[in-house]
Amino acid sequence: MTTILGYAAQDSSKPLAPYRFQRRAVGANDVQIDILYCGVCHSDLHTARNEWKNTLYPSVPGHEIVGKVTAVGSDVTGFKVGDLAGVGCMVDSCQSCSSCSEGLEQYCENGFTGTYNGPLFGGENTYGGYSDNIVVDQKFVLRIRHTDNLAAVAPLLCAGITTYSPLRQWNVKPGDKVGIVGLGGLGHMGVKIAAAMGAHVVLFTTSPNKREDALRLGAAEVVVSKNADEMAAHVNSFDFILNTVAAPHNLDAFLGLLKRDATMTLVGVPDSAHPSPEVFGLIFKRRRLAGSLIGGIAETQEMLDFCAEHNIVSDIELIDIQNINEAYERMLKSDVKYRFVIDMASLAKDQDAA
Ligand code: NAP
Ligand code: ZN
Repeated sequence: MTTILGYAAQDSSKPLAPYRFQRRAVGANDVQIDILYCGVCHSDLHTARNEWKNTLYPSVPGHEIVGKVTAVGSDVTGFKVGDLAGVGCMVDSCQSCSSCSEGLEQYCENGFTGTYNGPLFGGENTYGGYSDNIVVDQKFVLRIRHTDNLAAVAPLLCAGITTYSPLRQWNVKPGDKVGIVGLGGLGHMGVKIAAAMGAHVVLFTTSPNKREDALRLGAAEVVVSKNADEMAAHVNSFDFILNTVAAPHNLDAFLGLLKRDATMTLVGVPDSAHPSPEVFGLIFKRRRLAGSLIGGIAETQEMLDFCAEHNIVSDIELIDIQNINEAYERMLKSDVKYRFVIDMASLAKDQDAA
């Protein structure tokens, strides 16, 4: 065991602050990673503030981790000291259920172990990437092929895979008309990835001042979702819509824009329910409303390689860990362009604290 430094929330109402805790010793199958950068996902905020009513405290968030390998166990084959490596939302799963055997560890029938906040179905707490280093089983460590702009690669580990996986699952192909709802961390990755897949991307936003950015990021059109006329121009026209919004809202406004047999997939996880969709809107066009959770490890590697090949990284604002609480407040106001990433070197300033 080694004692390391991170940032933790001690309960739902306390700001994150320096916190010392222990990491396990490097086992035969483990990779130890010195964390260089960690992205700030809205899920970190939901968890730190117990908005999903399942937080184990102390809570050390962070599941968009990029760093350098500093030690490997005797049975590790794919990584060596000095390699770049990434860790996303999962650090373990049962490896024997039908989902795990299909490479869908995120749907592990026995519950995967989150990078933070412990196993899905109870067990010891786990501590995430707002910290010096992490020790992870090699099966859950990703290879990074990007050679520069490493800080901007970190958000691919959650925002990237959470948008890539449903775009692949619902078979988005060149020429498809694809809607992305919400231009935040997930949404801006969705725009970039869908555009790289050849789709005609329409970005829906509640923030008219994001229009120029959305076009620059790869959207062909931008619709301000509060504007009924702009929405009406797109009725019955979409092949697929990916909804990343982190707050409850009227889903019918978007379901009505789908073609017959088309799907809208939800990835945003508000802390309270959306108003129930109107059944008529679904049955008369056999439309589908679906959900999707991150992506499996193999698909995460596929996404990282796809992004390296297409020169895709996140648009980021690099922050020191000491500014994390202010970053959360700005995220709540949709005031982030388009992902905060923590420069973990800043943690050194707290080495004498805690
Ligand atoms: P984010 O950066 O805060 O972006 C969310 C965006 O939603 C905002 O930028 C805003 O875009 C829009 N929005 C916010 N409040 C809204 C409201 N009241 N009405 C309409 N639109 C609103 O968050 P994120 O990190 O992308 O995460 C988004 C959600 O996905 C969170 O709930 C997170 O927990 C969840 N998530 C799910 C998975 C999964 O596996 N399913 C993985 C990661 C995260 P505009 O300003 O453009 O309207
Ligand atoms: Zn996330």
